[in-house]
Amino acid sequence: MILFFFGLSAGVVAKIKGSSFFIWFMIGAVLPMIGTIAAVLYRNEREEERRTCPECGTVLPLYVQVCTRCGRDLEFPEDPPPEAAGTA
Ligand SMILES: [Zn+2]
Repeated sequence: MILFFFGLSAGVVAKIKGSSFFIWFMIGAVLPMIGTIAAVLYRNEREEERRTCPECGTVLPLYVQVCTRCGRDLEFPEDPPPEAAGTA
């Protein structure tokens, strides 16, 4: 029963991001927890916006708060599109 819910959660997450519900349902049921996490991460990897480190120019996912290359602290951006906030 618990496996069913794991499969279901993975499937729902996959469905939200436009992937196959059935495939991820199977993954979630066979690999409980891992399947769900994988589905979530998979979604992030596809939809996560990216930004450039102002210090060294490395392209990083939005959720990274410290640059992996130069170690600069990155503030979490409140305005996703850089173009919209470019009037300063
Ligand atoms: Zn950097």
